[in-house]
Amino acid sequence: MTDAVADVALDGTPGTDGAPAPAGLDDAVDLLAGRRIAVLTGAGVSTDSGIPDYRGAGAPKRTPMTAQQFLSEPRWHRRYWAGSHLGWRAFSAAAPNAGHRALVELEDRGVIGGVITQNVDGLHTKAGSRHVVDLHGSGDRVRCVRCGQHYSRDDIAAAIDRLNPWIDEPDAVQLAPDGDVEVRDVDSFVVPDCSVCGGLLKPDVVFFGEFVPREKFVEASALIRRADALLVAGSSLVVNSGIRLLEQAVRRSLPVVVVNRGATKGDRRAAVKIDAGTSEVLAALARRLGA
Ligand SMILES: [Zn+2]
Repeated sequence: MTDAVADVALDGTPGTDGAPAPAGLDDAVDLLAGRRIAVLTGAGVSTDSGIPDYRGAGAPKRTPMTAQQFLSEPRWHRRYWAGSHLGWRAFSAAAPNAGHRALVELEDRGVIGGVITQNVDGLHTKAGSRHVVDLHGSGDRVRCVRCGQHYSRDDIAAAIDRLNPWIDEPDAVQLAPDGDVEVRDVDSFVVPDCSVCGGLLKPDVVFFGEFVPREKFVEASALIRRADALLVAGSSLVVNSGIRLLEQAVRRSLPVVVVNRGATKGDRRAAVKIDAGTSEVLAALARRLGA
């Protein structure tokens, strides 16, 4: 670990607004300069856009629903869709932050080859990133589990609003004890079926306990194969696919830089770990790499 070495008192590099640069930034710049970088992002890059990181420090404890539960119990299915619908409204209102924009800048300059993300909020694409591998799918797509028909999330959200006009009444939603927002009367919540075959609709995202689709993993691996370094931003790497991609980079002797608030499962294998917010660090890297 070298992250304790580049202390601001020693290197004197100021941050954007005169604030001290986070420890490890200079080491990261030295390591990444002149290399083609693959980027892996997690929930931490979206927290500054107002989307909570359920795995981050201080985050509420949650028990994610499995695909099995979703498919087998109509009540779970309704509950999932009710929560997901409210979540989608928050996602679609969220705007990309300085971290997302920094990655677009770096891609435009050819410094990064693309972004592999564990997020389903679509913010990298909204910011303008062109090559995005969404490992866990994307919340803006919905799929029929029986016939495979695809729908846009906006269309399904509009249908849900039509079928549940009461959802905008002041008492319709409540704050759950874990801080999440929930629909109060889940049993009254109506979810549309597939208009082609009447099958169950499912957001096109990987559920807890499900595997990342093989073609997505292959695409992510290809990005790492073409890279000379891996930058992990805002992921604690507790999800299996993330750690497997990091191991792939390590096996190929690529230097790894990890930027995350708090410990990650990849810290021991990282050449540089920066314990700071991704918005400020990615913006600083964009200023200093490949200018
Ligand atoms: Zn169908």
